[in-house]
Amino acid sequence: MIKTIIVVGGGIGGTMTANNLVSKLYPEVSRGEVRVMLISNSPWHYYKPAFMYVAFGAYAKNDLRRQQASLLRPEIDFVLDQVDGFEFKNSCLKMRSGVSYDYDYLVVSTGCIPSPERIEGLQEAGDHFYQHDPARKLYEKISTIEKGRIFIGVTFPTTPNVPHQCGMAPLETTLLLDEFLRKRGVREQIELVYSYPSVAQLHQNALFLQKNTAEMLPSMFDARDIRYKRSFTLASVDPERKIAFSAEGEEENFDILIQTPPIRAVDAVLNSGVSQAPNNEGWLPTDRYSLQLEGFENVFVMGDTVDLPIGKAGGSCHSQSPVICDNIAGLLRWGKAEARYEGLVQAVAQMGMDAGIPLWYNYEQEAMPSPATKIGSLMCKGFNRGLYWSVARGLA
Ligand SMILES: Cc1cc2nc3c(=O)[nH]c(=O)nc-3n(C[C@H](O)[C@H](O)[C@H](O)COP(=O)(O)OP(=O)(O)OC[C@H]3O[C@@H](n4cnc5c(N)ncnc54)[C@H](O)[C@@H]3O)c2cc1C
Repeated sequence: MIKTIIVVGGGIGGTMTANNLVSKLYPEVSRGEVRVMLISNSPWHYYKPAFMYVAFGAYAKNDLRRQQASLLRPEIDFVLDQVDGFEFKNSCLKMRSGVSYDYDYLVVSTGCIPSPERIEGLQEAGDHFYQHDPARKLYEKISTIEKGRIFIGVTFPTTPNVPHQCGMAPLETTLLLDEFLRKRGVREQIELVYSYPSVAQLHQNALFLQKNTAEMLPSMFDARDIRYKRSFTLASVDPERKIAFSAEGEEENFDILIQTPPIRAVDAVLNSGVSQAPNNEGWLPTDRYSLQLEGFENVFVMGDTVDLPIGKAGGSCHSQSPVICDNIAGLLRWGKAEARYEGLVQAVAQMGMDAGIPLWYNYEQEAMPSPATKIGSLMCKGFNRGLYWSVARGLA
């Protein structure tokens, strides 16, 4: 009987995995024994990292998105609909349109949702660049501010050892902002402060989650006259007085507050009843090696929806996708899921407009940052401008 594999989510994780599944299982797909379906609730695929550049006036909307269907191999059935119910026990999806889909294997790659409303006053008074429209709004502010104080902060999920989305983005933005304000000729009149929370993660009281990267930051900030503050965990914001209050009992005034917002899983995942994450964050309990949903051999989780101690990044999806494809192929062909994900995350950090650092790390080893170079920046730009779409198509 024909086996159905459903991938939910037309972001980077789901798109590359649907394409990679067809490549991996091509003999079965071409004989009509396996059907691959991708379900997404948007006709568009957004290149999310580019939202950071939108905050600096770059990228029109059409430069950072493609029609979802155009990124998929022709063998994939693309369904534009929303999953409202994950019924893992019955291997069934309940859709917004009213139909249901049964599956033999499922991949969940539904991402996460920025949720500033989870911190009192942040929605009203804060800015961020993790979605298109907020990034555009931030651009309007930073391109007109003449003097004052910009305070940058990072919020982590409450779930222990689960990081925020894209670990480098707040740091990258701080460096880009410094350059941007210098080009505008207003940097001397604007105090720039980068802060980092007291987190329950690996290193306390640091400026970054990983030790090696944290250690290189003070000299980098000092050279640019960027002030920095450790142990500032945003607890609430007073929008009237423009003051940010920390859980540690401190307060900071601002003219612009750029805050990495709290994040959570999408509603259908939150409501699936499977997550044990605190604070209703919804991360799915994921086997750190096989990437199977705990307790469900035929369900795999990837990308921003996992509860793993690795970056919520496209660079994680890139390493998770082949493992999931190997494990689904293994289960289909000989009943075993033997491929292991070792926590590999790869990225190139943009350390200013013309400098970049390639980084990689895994469960065992932290990233070893090297000096920022122009070649690193070219890697970033090449990825931003074109290579990303090849990765999504499963070609790189
Ligand atoms: C500003 C910014 C900068 C970043 N920089 C980097 C970087 O430099 N390097 C890096 O590696 N990563 C970076 N990231 C992170 C990266 O974009 C994400 O980690 C990645 O997109 C996660 O992929 P995903 O497939 O898990 O989810 P997403 O890409 O978010 O895709 C989720 C998909 O699921 C769909 N969906 C959601 N719910 C449902 C539902 N109920 N039914 C059907 N479909 C649904 C959505 O429409 C979407 O298509 C950055 C992110 C941002 C926002």
